[in-house]
Amino acid sequence: MKYLFIDRDGTLVAEPEDEQVDSLEKIEFEPDVIPALRELEAFGYTLVMVTNQDGLGTESFPENDFVKPQNFILNVLSSQGVRFDDILVCPHFPHENCSCRKPKTGLLQEYLKRTDWDRQNSYVIGDRETDVKLGENMGIKSFRYNRDTMSWPEIASSIIHKERTATVVRNTRETKISVSINLDHNGDSSISTGVGFFDHMLDQIATHGGFQMILRADGDLFVDEHHTVEDVGIALGTALRQALGEKRGIVRFAYALPMDEVYAKIEGFSTSLLSEKIAAALDISGRPFCNFVCDADFLRDHVGDFPVEMVPHFFRSLADAMGITLHLFVSEGNTHHQVEALFKGFGRALRQAVKIEGTELPSSKGVL
Ligand SMILES: [Mg+2]
Ligand SMILES: [Zn+2]
Repeated sequence: MKYLFIDRDGTLVAEPEDEQVDSLEKIEFEPDVIPALRELEAFGYTLVMVTNQDGLGTESFPENDFVKPQNFILNVLSSQGVRFDDILVCPHFPHENCSCRKPKTGLLQEYLKRTDWDRQNSYVIGDRETDVKLGENMGIKSFRYNRDTMSWPEIASSIIHKERTATVVRNTRETKISVSINLDHNGDSSISTGVGFFDHMLDQIATHGGFQMILRADGDLFVDEHHTVEDVGIALGTALRQALGEKRGIVRFAYALPMDEVYAKIEGFSTSLLSEKIAAALDISGRPFCNFVCDADFLRDHVGDFPVEMVPHFFRSLADAMGITLHLFVSEGNTHHQVEALFKGFGRALRQAVKIEGTELPSSKGVL
């Protein structure tokens, strides 16, 4: 569950000079607020209104003067498909020193106690410094709304088109690994595992996957490469899973068949290293499974400093940690080419599957 905690005056509707929306004449909606909120709701956000209404219910601001405009605002919004799930109002004056006036978090205690919502992707949106401060106090990010410099379309677009990133640090007695993924940034990867050929293979995943991978591994290579390769698979799979988040809008399924003629035609790439037939199919299903088929045994047991027996093991570790169903097939041939083709093919399949094509969750179950 993801929330938007939204201020009312100055954010949904304009704030009058006397700072009190106490009659229908004073209501003026902020530009583009309705289409932006509709878009964010369709993207899976639940809306909560959080507003300070100084002295509400006192002589200076009788209850009815609040209720009428408030209902009008809510009716207009709901007639356009915008629904607030919860409305939280602090009726106190600043001098009363209550615990619920923003930026204090008294109104939000219920939410702060709960652990079932996504703090990474929830935001406070408001026009004042106190709204930004509220976000800080809640431990979530915020947008300082401003008609000219941070408009509703800008806010909606930065929330929806947020880059999908994750960083995973995994330290054990055998390996120390840190990996950062940005699925929405192509290039500038940097990979160092201490195993030259493995670096080259991981770079194939990033390059053909079309994403950025910053990876550093310090493993017990004096024992052998096993722990490093396996643990990199786990850390990379975990980072990819985290970067994908709730997986909204992704293609989800992909199939890559990088044989000579296919690549030559579709991608226009150099094909010299892809003479082996390989196939990679994957489903970002949330259900880990790896099926690895090599038509013939690898003819060599090492490529450079990389033990070839670790190839299926690497993909299995990655698929488990990432929660994907992965099928890999490679024909017999030159071992170096076989391994390289597998990593490239996996990258190509990944590139298609993580691509965003809409805003829906690609599952009838509503969760992946
Ligand atoms: Mg305000
Ligand atoms: Zn209060």
